[in-house]
Amino acid sequence: MAWLTKSRFMAGRQCAKRLWFEVNDPLEAHAADSMPLRQGRAFDEFVRALWPGRVIARGRGMPAAIAETSRVFAAGGAPVLHQAAVRHGDFAVIADVLRRDRGESQLIEVKASTSVKPEHLPDAAFQALVMRSAQVAVDRVLLGHVNNQFTLERAGEFDGLLVEADLTPQVEALLPTLGEQAVALHRVMALRAAPDVAMGPQCHSPYDCPFIERCARGAAPADLSTHRDERVRAGAVFLDRGAAAELREAPYPHSFLDFETIALAVPEVVGTRPYEQLPFQWSLHVEQASGEVSHGEYLAIEAFGDFDALASALLEVVPAQGSVFAYNAGFEARALALLARLCPAHATRLHALAARLIDLLPITRRAYYHPRMQGSWSLKAVIPTIAPDLAYGELADVRDGEGAQLAFLDLREGRVDGSRRAALTKAMLDYCRQDTWSLVQLARFLSAAA
Ligand code: SF4
Repeated sequence: MAWLTKSRFMAGRQCAKRLWFEVNDPLEAHAADSMPLRQGRAFDEFVRALWPGRVIARGRGMPAAIAETSRVFAAGGAPVLHQAAVRHGDFAVIADVLRRDRGESQLIEVKASTSVKPEHLPDAAFQALVMRSAQVAVDRVLLGHVNNQFTLERAGEFDGLLVEADLTPQVEALLPTLGEQAVALHRVMALRAAPDVAMGPQCHSPYDCPFIERCARGAAPADLSTHRDERVRAGAVFLDRGAAAELREAPYPHSFLDFETIALAVPEVVGTRPYEQLPFQWSLHVEQASGEVSHGEYLAIEAFGDFDALASALLEVVPAQGSVFAYNAGFEARALALLARLCPAHATRLHALAARLIDLLPITRRAYYHPRMQGSWSLKAVIPTIAPDLAYGELADVRDGEGAQLAFLDLREGRVDGSRRAALTKAMLDYCRQDTWSLVQLARFLSAAA
């Protein structure tokens, strides 16, 4: 019978069906990757460098890791032990860090989050339960997380980036009932068929369940009848010719701007904080009153962190006059404000550029709805209804902002080379260019309607 690991325990707490799927009918192995996973790995590596110690190898599977951990314990343990794997009966866990500190045995769960979240408590408590059941001393349970008030003042100096929160009292309070819950979840794993659980809020809380597509298959299409927007409920095409009138008055040239940014758990650039949205790419389309359109773009991989170069290149091509459009323009405004902070020499011009921003999102919300948008005004929902040839699904490799961030990291960390590197770079440029070209099409569509 499979073991109840920490990730299965947490999956089961979210939804018994999810746990059953994970054990009995998992998704096809695929290179699932996401920014939270990458951020978590980066923070784990940072903690290992911060607290050097013995590291239990993970690559040969759980039984081998458990055997290696037992040998370390039999030899007297280690002041700092990373990835200790411990089993008790049907339960097995891997502890991020076991540390001896002034005679105390500490279990430290490492999370790349910026605060203690409710789901961290059962997560840490299950580890403490299994450790103690296996006769591994745990006097204190801590959560090591990111301090988002930290600023990297000097390259390589990370004092203060890690915060240790003491979870011991909350974990002790959970332990008396946790064992029973773990036994019940282990039984779920052995059921012959998936338990009957209807989709609901648990599908997204505390994590997005990976089986949403499977559970939603065959389910009724999304019911929009209670949507707060009357036009969505009506389910018909809506176009308000007056609502987009301000577009006709927006002075030319019309610039269309989009930034791609990355949020790093462990800051790399002096002067930045964890999880700040740092620009690495922009695309700009400029449309003259004559209808003539030009395009400029910038992508920093090796040069990431040279914000002066990124800002200078933008200021060189963006017209000094006219309107600057973006979609959900607060994002572009924040990127420009951050660039102004990091590049004081360009601050005045960057602030002036931000002051010219016009947000196409609220204009579109007021002026337009198509039932195929399914209640969403995201650019990727709107564009296919007005320009079917611009469907984002047709793009190779990079189809959304997270895809651009993962591609950026793959390139920056040297995970791809040769022709794959060139293809991924092109995909990033194509994606960002499509975003601003979509804005050109959207503005034209709304202006024509106005
Ligand atoms: S999608 Fe929802 S109902 Fe289905 S397994 Fe996941 S959490 Fe459970």
